[in-house]
Amino acid sequence: MKKWKLFTLIFISFLTVFLIVTVYKTLTIASKQPDGQITEATVNKNEAVEHLSEAVTYKTISYQDRAKMEFSEFDRFVDFLERAYPSVHEELQLEKINDYGLMYQWKGKDNGKQPIGLTSHYDVVPVLDGTEGNWEQEPFSGTVIDDKIWGRGTLDDKIGVIGILQALEYLLKEGYEPERDMYFMFGFDEEIGGDLGAKAMADTLKDRGIQFEYVLDEGGAIVEDMVPGVQSPVGVVGISEKGSATAELSIEGSGGHSSQPKSQTNIGRIARAITKLEDTQFPADLKGPGEDLFEYVAPEMSFGMRYIFSNKWIFEPVIERVLLQEPASAALIRTTIAPTIFQAGEQYNALPEKASAVINLRLMPGDSLQDVKTFIEETIEDDSIKVEVEGSEATKVSSVEGEPFQKVQQAAKNVYNDAVIAPYLMFAGSDAKHYDSVSDNTYRFLPVQITSEDLNRMHGTNEHISIDNYLNAIKFYIEIIKESNR
Ligand SMILES: [Zn+2]
Repeated sequence: MKKWKLFTLIFISFLTVFLIVTVYKTLTIASKQPDGQITEATVNKNEAVEHLSEAVTYKTISYQDRAKMEFSEFDRFVDFLERAYPSVHEELQLEKINDYGLMYQWKGKDNGKQPIGLTSHYDVVPVLDGTEGNWEQEPFSGTVIDDKIWGRGTLDDKIGVIGILQALEYLLKEGYEPERDMYFMFGFDEEIGGDLGAKAMADTLKDRGIQFEYVLDEGGAIVEDMVPGVQSPVGVVGISEKGSATAELSIEGSGGHSSQPKSQTNIGRIARAITKLEDTQFPADLKGPGEDLFEYVAPEMSFGMRYIFSNKWIFEPVIERVLLQEPASAALIRTTIAPTIFQAGEQYNALPEKASAVINLRLMPGDSLQDVKTFIEETIEDDSIKVEVEGSEATKVSSVEGEPFQKVQQAAKNVYNDAVIAPYLMFAGSDAKHYDSVSDNTYRFLPVQITSEDLNRMHGTNEHISIDNYLNAIKFYIEIIKESNR
């Protein structure tokens, strides 16, 4: 046999084996979705709509400067809850932490079982001065028009508070009794860090030795056309939250006259450092929650994409390169670098004696603040630049194995039967992190279907929700309480 013939034969054999193995893996990858058992809950639409609409009218606004917060509005909101949910206030124990952190306890039949917590917050972000006129409906009107409810908090996150309370009132009227203790915790300062609300409630529970099986907070939602290769809507449940760090790079030294500059000026050095960081970037790695996301969605993908994602062992570098092309997916697989402030110079003909820059970094679970500092110092290779890093580490990663995650997944499937429910990594912060100290797992999921426009509306203009979506959220909370007590 001629040499080239032998090579061809070997090559074809390899290719055949490769194809058989990879196609086999693609065809046998098992779905990680439970069958939805369509919810039978029927929600009183008019009452539910009235309640969310009224909830929006209370201006429970959080300001960075706490002195600006109008607590009379918070008082009125709490009074409204007592009026609107009589059964809840009769049957459950309400405890107020720091006056406005609302902690409801629903006693279960078996207190030997670990409790479960649902949480959300009723403070909202302000409407930016000068943007009020851009709203189609007044931001605190709670206007109901064309099957939509309008206003601040309809998505973030009065829908969570009202959705949970509607579910509770419904279950109480049905005569439902939970097997285990349930806690419902509503924060009042989530938008400014949650220290007096969620954190204080978690600290109180910790002092009492309470440890949840899981806590569910706001977070991911049902999205469409955001996960490549998946036709169906995807419900993403946050299982961890990225850390957030601020790095300050600063340099001080002689300035001088701009007519005789040194070859390296302070501005030049800081600028070079930032350029180096942007050119280098943290290494990308499809691991942790990002990897979990694709493990859950891969079986539901069209064949081509499923082929790639079922064979990560060989295609991982390709997948990572593709994910790095879009900022949203790049953020899923690496710690991100965003220079946000650059300061230097006052006069056009004087070299500044100081220059500094601030970089906001969002940390992958596994990259610590110390790792960030080391990475910056090693990348910029300039000892004259001082690097200071502060901020918060990524949260722990909650489990997707076992019952707790399955319960969240099942409850979501019972309402959104055609959606794929998958874990993912949250980029933004929420109250959930405060509950890490008292919970084996913390999940982050807002049970509504949202678009990318909705995401912009959450802290922006024209925040609203469709009534259908809101009713589904209530049904989800009914289902999650039932699933948690099976
Ligand atoms: Zn929120």
